[in-house]
Amino acid sequence: MSTTKVVVIGGGQAGLAAGYYLRRAGLDFVILDAQATPGGAWPHGWDSLRLFSPAQFSSLPGWPMPPYPSEWYPPAGHVVDYLTAYEKRYELPIRRSEPVSAVSRTEGGLQVATDSGTWSAEAVVSATGTWWRPFLPLVPGSFAGRQLHTVDYRNPDEFAGQRVVVVGGGNSGAQIAADLTTAAEVTWVTRRPPRYLPDEVDGHALFDAATRRRRVLDRGEADTGGVAALGDIVALPPVRRARDAGLLTAKPMFARFDEDGPVWSDDTRLPADTVIWCTGFRPALSHLAPLRLRGADGRIATHGTRVVDEPRLHLLGYGDWTGPASATLIGVGMTARAAVADITSHLDTGR
Ligand SMILES: Cc1cc2nc3c(=O)[nH]c(=O)nc-3n(C[C@H](O)[C@H](O)[C@H](O)COP(=O)(O)OP(=O)(O)OC[C@H]3O[C@@H](n4cnc5c(N)ncnc54)[C@H](O)[C@@H]3O)c2cc1C
Repeated sequence: MSTTKVVVIGGGQAGLAAGYYLRRAGLDFVILDAQATPGGAWPHGWDSLRLFSPAQFSSLPGWPMPPYPSEWYPPAGHVVDYLTAYEKRYELPIRRSEPVSAVSRTEGGLQVATDSGTWSAEAVVSATGTWWRPFLPLVPGSFAGRQLHTVDYRNPDEFAGQRVVVVGGGNSGAQIAADLTTAAEVTWVTRRPPRYLPDEVDGHALFDAATRRRRVLDRGEADTGGVAALGDIVALPPVRRARDAGLLTAKPMFARFDEDGPVWSDDTRLPADTVIWCTGFRPALSHLAPLRLRGADGRIATHGTRVVDEPRLHLLGYGDWTGPASATLIGVGMTARAAVADITSHLDTGR
């Protein structure tokens, strides 16, 4: 059994941001990450995946992301290089290939179990992201073709000449559908008509909208709608090009499958070879199951990042759940700072 003040579970950008503030607070901590190499989810995206903001608006606390020399926004590889350099720069104590299987209560704190041992800590930050828990909606019927999720998609080459249905009206759906138009016969399916953000809006504006919304809600004023009020899809150049060429017209969601492909409620059928579900993710929280934190509504109640029923546990980086835009590079710093401030004051007061 090893002992430390704080265990951070997950060494992606959220875990690193937490590490930065824990280091500044002078607390003893360790970051446990399941993967053998740095970068969190970023090494796993598709080949053409790029940030939806320029480098200067994609920085973690303390050290700006180096500029990317191109008219384009940085590719995922640039983010991986940045995260790799960031953890070295701040000498963050990361232990890799250490998947956490369970967090449980002990008399004085929390116990964190990995394949290779157990850590005892006074506080735990869970920053495990969502990429590891893809969400696919249940659709009746059975389809004989191939079905994949965003996490499985790499590039259009393997779909050359195929009839591919891309489901999902968010950024992943739009980007993957646009990517595929170069090689495949693409049908894009969205639950509601695609809502593009104005072409000049990027991730920086999204962060501002999310932050404004949080401030308004905290003051008890009427909801501004935040990012969702602006639209769903950042019109990156490849998406814009495919859209403007008329290649991204979306069909509404289908009702079921038959063997050959999707079937709509008016019985329209579309024979297809492959369906790619770009239907999002859920927080990867199975390691918290022993704590039995889910309420009757299936949700874990939080106050800021702190879990209401287990105040020694903080959740960081899961969409907008515990902080505005905290799943983004620019957004996670503010929430990480608040989490560490909260942890520090709890440890100080011994609550
Ligand atoms: C397609 C796509 C495009 C995006 N584009 C942008 C963008 O342009 N700009 C932007 O700012 N954001 C973007 N995001 C959002 C965001 O930056 C990423 O989702 C980011 O990866 C979230 O960081 P994280 O640290 O919370 O999680 P992750 O990057 O997923 O890191 C979590 C880490 O925890 C580890 N882990 C998981 N479970 C365990 C466990 N049980 N034990 C130990 N370790 C564990 C994982 O291996 C991983 O290393 C995008 C997201 C997606 C999906």
